[in-house]
Amino acid sequence: MKRTDVLGTGFDSLTLDEAVELALGLIDERRGAYVVTPNPEMVMLARKNPPFAAALAGAALVLPDGVGVTKAASILKRPLRERLPGIDFAGALMERLAQENGSVFLLGAKPGVAERAGERLAGCHPGLRVLGCTDGYFEDDGAIIAELREKRPDFLLVCLGAPKQELWMQKNEGLPVGVMAGLGGCLDVFAGDVKRAPGAWRRLGLEWLYRLLREPRRLGRMMKLPLFILLALKERVFGRKEAENG
Ligand code: UDP
Repeated sequence: MKRTDVLGTGFDSLTLDEAVELALGLIDERRGAYVVTPNPEMVMLARKNPPFAAALAGAALVLPDGVGVTKAASILKRPLRERLPGIDFAGALMERLAQENGSVFLLGAKPGVAERAGERLAGCHPGLRVLGCTDGYFEDDGAIIAELREKRPDFLLVCLGAPKQELWMQKNEGLPVGVMAGLGGCLDVFAGDVKRAPGAWRRLGLEWLYRLLREPRRLGRMMKLPLFILLALKERVFGRKEAENG
């Protein structure tokens, strides 16, 4: 499948249902493939960090997390089908897995968060088996790898923040898990520690603003968003080559 380039990162143009179907196919293949969900901040990072860009490009699915990516794609006249927040993808995939008595393993976030997330996920997706939970502040991942080899979950949620989670998944591609996905702060949300924006804000594409209002310390990180949109406008007006040189 040819990817849609948005400022150097290739994205798959899919609906949520299509992404979930493809992920279920990957789980059947069981080759330990991985899914990434880049937001504008990650696209900007990939522009100056080639190992991170390679980790994104090596993913089996690249889903656009956040309205900034779909906006930039439209500016570049290469619209993406849907904005696909990683958390929606993970929720929909777990819903399907629950129907088939499938399994998950939760890796990441501060100690205790993954366990609480696991309890809540098992509660809201009856049938889903939570095979293990481990925090994301490990020195050596040997014990985690051994546990994953033994438990072989269908879906491994990797929530270590970018770029750590993408580099970790690239390094561990081929583990005997169904599929893994890099999902940033999702476990904090699943645990109930961080609230998502209300539905109306999400539909308007204002989840980023809600998050900023709740956590003003994110402002520094989010200042990359206007620059990202500006770069898309520059590439549209002057073309790729000139936009990169200028
Ligand atoms: N995290 C982790 N290990 C680390 C660094 C971060 O498990 O070494 C976790 C952190 O606790 C948080 C998540 O990774 O749960 C990253 O959250 P952030 O809000 O930065 O991610 P975003 O959703 O913005 O990508």
